[in-house]
Amino acid sequence: MDGKKIIGIDLGGTTVKFAILSIDGEVQQKWSIETNILDEGSHIVPEIIESINHRLHLYGMKAEDFIGIGMGTPGSVDIEEGTVIGAYNLNWRTLQPVRKQIEEGTGIRFKLDNDANVAALGERWKGAGENDPNVVFMTLGTGVGGGIIMEGQLLHGNGGCAGDIGHVTVEPHGFECTCGKVGCLETVASATGVVRVARQLSEEYAGNSDLKRRLDDGQAISSKDVFVLAEQEDPFALMVVDKVCFYLGLACGNLGNTLNPSSIVLGGGVSAAGEFLRSRVEKYFKEYTFPQVRESTQIKLARLGNDAGVIGAASLALQFVG
Ligand code: ZN
Repeated sequence: MDGKKIIGIDLGGTTVKFAILSIDGEVQQKWSIETNILDEGSHIVPEIIESINHRLHLYGMKAEDFIGIGMGTPGSVDIEEGTVIGAYNLNWRTLQPVRKQIEEGTGIRFKLDNDANVAALGERWKGAGENDPNVVFMTLGTGVGGGIIMEGQLLHGNGGCAGDIGHVTVEPHGFECTCGKVGCLETVASATGVVRVARQLSEEYAGNSDLKRRLDDGQAISSKDVFVLAEQEDPFALMVVDKVCFYLGLACGNLGNTLNPSSIVLGGGVSAAGEFLRSRVEKYFKEYTFPQVRESTQIKLARLGNDAGVIGAASLALQFVG
C-alpha cells in the first residue's frame, strides 16, 4: 500500500473538481473541468473518465498506483449499487450507473456518496472536525445540507436521508420549502432564506436602516449584504442576523441534544460571515442544549472551503484499504 494514492471528485452543476491525494489526505494535484449537462447529462461521466485518464498519462501514473476513486454528487445516491438518480442540476433524471462506467473506463475501484456527505467527511478528516469520530457538518449555501459522522461512520439512514439537516423544522408555521413541507431550516438559513427573513421582518420594522431602505426601494439584496450591513451595526440587519442565528442555534441545539458530537461545523457561502455568525449561533445553541451537551459539543467554522468536497470524496476510497 506504500505510496499508493487516492482520487477525489466533486461533481457539481457548473464544474467537476478533481484531486489526487496521498492516503493521509495531502492534496498533491488539483484540477477541474466544466460540467457539460447537455443531452440529459450523458457527457458528464465520459468526460470525467477522459479527464482522469488524460491526467494520469500527463503525470506518468497508472491505474495500479491508486487505491480507488471517491466521488460526491448531487441527487439521490444508491451507495451499494453506485448509481445516481434525480440530480436535476445535472439533467440526470433517470438512473445513472456511474460506478460501473467509471470502473470500466479507468480500471480503478470507485465509491460514490452525496455531495453534502462527502463535504462532511472532508471537514471531519482534514478540517474543523480534527478527525474526531463524532462530527456534524452543516453547509449553508444556495440550500442547506449536511452530513453526520458518528463513531467514525457516515450515517445514511433507511432511505438515505440521514444528515439532511436543511429540512429540520425550525418554524412550525413558516415558509414553504421546495420539499413540500413548511418551516424548514433551509427556508430561513440558506442564502435566499436570509433575504426572505429580511423581507418578512421589514414589514414590521419602522426604524432607520440602510437595509430596510434598500428592500423598500426594491433593490436586489444578497445574504452577504445583510451580514455586511449587520457588521456595520445597521440595527435592522442585526435583527435579521439575530433571527437567522436563532434558527441555526435551535437546529444545532437539537442536533447536539440528540447526537452530542464533538463539533457541529458550519460551512458553505453563508458561513463566510465567520466569527460574527458563529458566535451568535453559539449563543442560541447554548440556550437550547442541556448542560452536558453544552459543555462537550462545540460550534465551529469550516476550514477547508471548496476543497472539502474533493478531500472527503477521496476518503471514500480508503474503504478499499485492507
Ligand atoms: Zn424542506
